[in-house]
Amino acid sequence: MNKESYIKDAEESILHTYNRFPVVFDHGEGVYLYDTDGKEYLDFAAGIAVQAFGYHNEEYGEALKAQVDKLMHTSNLYYNEPIIRAAKRALKASRMDRVFFTNSGTEAIEGAIKAAKKYAFTRDSHAGHEIIAMNGSFHGRSIGALSVTGNAHYQEPFEPLMPGVHFAEYNDLDSVKALINEKTCAIILETVQGEGGIYPAKKDFLEGIRALCDEHDILLILDEIQCGMGRTGEMFAWQHYGVKPDIMTSAKALGCGVPVGAFFLTERVAQKSLAPGDHGTTYGGNPFVGAAVDKVLEMMEREDITGHVKEIAPYLEQKLDELVEKYDFLTARRGMGLMQGVVCEKPVGQIAAKALDKGLVVITAGADVLRLVPPLVIGKEHVDEMAAKLDAVMAEL
Ligand SMILES: *Cc1c(COP(=O)(O)O)cnc(C)c1O
Repeated sequence: MNKESYIKDAEESILHTYNRFPVVFDHGEGVYLYDTDGKEYLDFAAGIAVQAFGYHNEEYGEALKAQVDKLMHTSNLYYNEPIIRAAKRALKASRMDRVFFTNSGTEAIEGAIKAAKKYAFTRDSHAGHEIIAMNGSFHGRSIGALSVTGNAHYQEPFEPLMPGVHFAEYNDLDSVKALINEKTCAIILETVQGEGGIYPAKKDFLEGIRALCDEHDILLILDEIQCGMGRTGEMFAWQHYGVKPDIMTSAKALGCGVPVGAFFLTERVAQKSLAPGDHGTTYGGNPFVGAAVDKVLEMMEREDITGHVKEIAPYLEQKLDELVEKYDFLTARRGMGLMQGVVCEKPVGQIAAKALDKGLVVITAGADVLRLVPPLVIGKEHVDEMAAKLDAVMAEL
């Protein structure tokens, strides 16, 4: 079948919730993808910050295959060994105390919201608590996660959403302070805003929020679904700041292609939070995803992935800065580690499409940001190739 007929079949059968680029990817190797026509693409999107090790990593593939042959699923009515190994590694990497595995990022957020509400319910012996979230945030598409996502366009058709959510300005501590009342149970934010346009939290903002939380016994929920798992040069971005969350969410690169998420609690919060009967999942944390998460974390640790990111990221920043310098419609670069955004005054969707034509996968964030979230294993030669291709795209605008 040719590309056009694949796309025609897709558009006739799959619900049209995405305006997709006209590419059908067939396989991947390292940091390259290949479409059904055999065309090669350098991948600086990693399936939206998922494929930390790129494609066709043999050690990872072998671990999955072995688990497929052994045991895929049993339910959470029983223990299974791979997820126990994965949990131990995840707690070590996150410096948190308790973990609950989910099937996606949005479900991790749902769990985090419930955990915060239950904590406040236990403390106060009544319900009716509220949450502070940030404008420009993205936490997922299910109703709870959508309720704390500060994007009116995403929310409007689905109102009424979960009540009791108030939105502050990201990196504006006073705007958060102004919203705190006796009902507030949690403040939720991404340590680095992703979909909203790649905005890292300022240090004093995060420290200020931590202090507010401590003062009022409010829980700090940090969403590390996109910025976590080594992407910024620490396993989780908050580890740059010396500010620890009470609840943290992860997903995306946690499974490197296997759908899995997680929310983490400190022991102090866990003691007053979700108990038997409060929360559950059929698939979450099954043996198959356990093998995936265990292997991903083992490889990240052994190969010192954060050390590699710290080494390569300044070179990526330098190359992007050169482009920003060269083209006056590129107005800024911002980000942390291998999570970078270039602010652009020309339509970014068009730029991403042109880049695809030239064999480079990049994505966008917000209305005017070109987003680069490559596999964490990229080398300097890949940064050079990306910069040359992006330069060629810009030159045509
Ligand atoms: C992608 C993302 C989510 C949602 O994760 P899904 O797996 O798509 O449900 C939540 N928060 C952040 C910061 C994300 O980047």
